[in-house]
Amino acid sequence: MTKILAVNAGSSSLKFKLLEMPEESVIAEGVIERIGVDLDQDNNVTIKFNGEKHKQRKHFDNHEQAINLMLNQFKELGIVKDFNDIKGIGHRVVAGGEWFNKSVLVNDEVLKKIERLASYAPLHNPANALGIKAFSKIIPDATEVAVFDTAFHQTMPRENYLYAVPYEYYTKYGVRRYGAHGTSHKYVSEQAAKFLNKPLDQLKLITLHLGAGASVAAIKNGKSFDTSMGFSPLAGLIMGTRSGDVDYSLVDYVKNKEGLSDEEILNILNHKSGLLGISTISSDMRDLLDVYDTNDHAKLAVDMFVDRVVEYIGRYYFELQGADAIVFTAGIGENSVPIRKMVVEKLRFLGIELNQEANEQRGKDTLISTEDSKIKVLMIPTNEELEIARDVENLMQAK
Ligand code: ADP
Repeated sequence: MTKILAVNAGSSSLKFKLLEMPEESVIAEGVIERIGVDLDQDNNVTIKFNGEKHKQRKHFDNHEQAINLMLNQFKELGIVKDFNDIKGIGHRVVAGGEWFNKSVLVNDEVLKKIERLASYAPLHNPANALGIKAFSKIIPDATEVAVFDTAFHQTMPRENYLYAVPYEYYTKYGVRRYGAHGTSHKYVSEQAAKFLNKPLDQLKLITLHLGAGASVAAIKNGKSFDTSMGFSPLAGLIMGTRSGDVDYSLVDYVKNKEGLSDEEILNILNHKSGLLGISTISSDMRDLLDVYDTNDHAKLAVDMFVDRVVEYIGRYYFELQGADAIVFTAGIGENSVPIRKMVVEKLRFLGIELNQEANEQRGKDTLISTEDSKIKVLMIPTNEELEIARDVENLMQAK
């Protein structure tokens, strides 16, 4: 039995899940927020263990202090006897560029590359690097692994990852589609193959990761073939606050009309657009569905979201030349009965039928299409932390 910690370090937060491997059971999980920023009235530390939530409010100057508190809490609660009980740590890293097509053991060179890739993910990679450094200091004997959000999509063929801009921008600056949510798309594709009892390398899958951030992937024989997020996670589907695909000319036009800086317009596209921008009331799908019948803007935002998802399914159905299954996952994909219904009903012409009763199911892998549906539709809860822990375990064994 080995304890492995999956870590997601943000600029002011740290999310973590401690797993027992190879049993794949969750021992504890939690989140620390407001690292390096002033506290508000709320508790900023939550650790879930044995069905109980342990909360507190504490100021941290940096990630190292936050990690120390987390580990000391683990000791106090009896989750570990010693920090060294944690044998492996898997760090979620947002941008891996073209340097990383799979998870790797962390060393100085890997850490330097993660820091250099900050120009692709300015908010995330520096925070991910901070998390790695802090753990190396506190538990130097643990095996640290970097798991990249982009790695799974490195198998895309160049006709799918290139933009039709002067080619030299690709060779000089690495301008291309990198995608994101790779760990989730990979996990649900593996689960889908198990569920369907077919070898993954013989399947064509369209996976829909629909959360606050959302992306679609076309997966051919277990490899990412195309994905909706682009050079950054701003592209593709309509998201909670992100616009997804827009015509670049409108960006420039609005920028000039409103007298905005580059930074301001990017902020609007990332944080004030999407479901929030159209509905004008909320970025949360639940709020919009609650008033779908009475608020025209909420209805419009939801309908546009559904249409964009269907548009991408169509695109990838053709790109893959068919599909064996469509998989729903993440916050909206796993929990929203009406969104799945709206999407699947628009696919009826492909011979896809929804099983209404199965669509009410929650929390476990489920076939939500009818048995004779031409393409299977699945709901599979994602588990990025488990996928991370599996990678850490595999790399520890290979060491
Ligand atoms: P992320 O990891 O990208 O932050 P999640 O995958 O946790 O996001 O998804 C969060 C989103 O899921 C919320 O913003 C909310 O819109 C949506 N969501 C969660 N539960 C439901 C539900 N029952 N119905 C509709 N949407 C839901």
